[in-house]
Amino acid sequence: MPKITIDSNLCKGCGLCIDACPKEIIVIGDSSNDQGYFTAVNSNNPDKCTGCALCAEICPDIAIKVFK
Ligand code: SF4
Ligand code: SF4
Repeated sequence: MPKITIDSNLCKGCGLCIDACPKEIIVIGDSSNDQGYFTAVNSNNPDKCTGCALCAEICPDIAIKVFK
């Protein structure tokens, strides 16, 4: 089953991946990382991930990895 991981210490919470995901899997979480950014998490129905990689492609900080 496809899935993603988000490296919270690379993420700056910009939200680009949230807008990019057609399945609305990614949201901003409720905890901050070492730099004080509230970061993206894949907590909204992650089983719906298709592995399309749109989120990873748009992330300017290369924080997202896609596993197919
Ligand atoms: S790989 Fe595609 S479906 Fe999965 S979280 Fe990223 S944008 Fe959404
Ligand atoms: S696009 Fe990258 S840096 Fe921006 S919120 Fe998503 S994972 Fe974080």
